[in-house]
Amino acid sequence: MRDPGREVVAIVLSVSAYADDDRILKLLTPTEGKIGAFQRLGRRKPAGLDVGVRARLHLRHGRDGGLDTLVDVKVEDPRIHLRSGYGRLALSQYGCELVGALSREAHAEPKQFGLLDTWLVLLDALRADPSVSLAAALELKALTFAGVGPALDRCGACGGPVEPVMHLEPAGGGAVHARCGGGVVVAETVLAELERLRRTPLRELVDGVVSPLVGEVAAGLVRAQLGRELASRELLG
Ligand SMILES: [Zn+2]
Repeated sequence: MRDPGREVVAIVLSVSAYADDDRILKLLTPTEGKIGAFQRLGRRKPAGLDVGVRARLHLRHGRDGGLDTLVDVKVEDPRIHLRSGYGRLALSQYGCELVGALSREAHAEPKQFGLLDTWLVLLDALRADPSVSLAAALELKALTFAGVGPALDRCGACGGPVEPVMHLEPAGGGAVHARCGGGVVVAETVLAELERLRRTPLRELVDGVVSPLVGEVAAGLVRAQLGRELASRELLG
């Protein structure tokens, strides 16, 4: 019997060319986490599925357990303004790569999906490029939703309260007292700012100022967690 397929809502994380005219899409869905799909283009024009676009997709299982094949597309949010500023475009690409890297396959990821969707909606709505350091808020939220968020409002080792000078071991669970562990010295004020970014909704942060130092600390937490620098991070300058 022919597979009737299924409908999923998805955000396009990446697009790569395959063979002559076909493409492989990496997608983030709330219901199935990260998935891949094969888009046969043939002589038809691409259906506007660029990175960051949210669409309702009709997928059919691939043969022999291969990639699902895309059979129909309804674009829900084309995010047409993302490409009107270099900063917005770079931040949108980075958001897709970051949240994709911290999302699982074959598991529902409604929080990561909602986070990335909000990020892209906000960037699309802006008239000017935001501060690059705004990415710190996205990084902290994505790490937290992935279950690897750092301790910022207490000592990650003993659970005691934050003191004026703490140490931060990016791969080791967050901030710790000097007597409880090692890492780079970090001021209580920086930890408080990181915690504020983690807890405040993205839309309330867009017009604010994030210090470059706080941005660097958050980026370091992502690098330590993933064990590598994400390719699109370089685009942020
Ligand atoms: Zn401690």
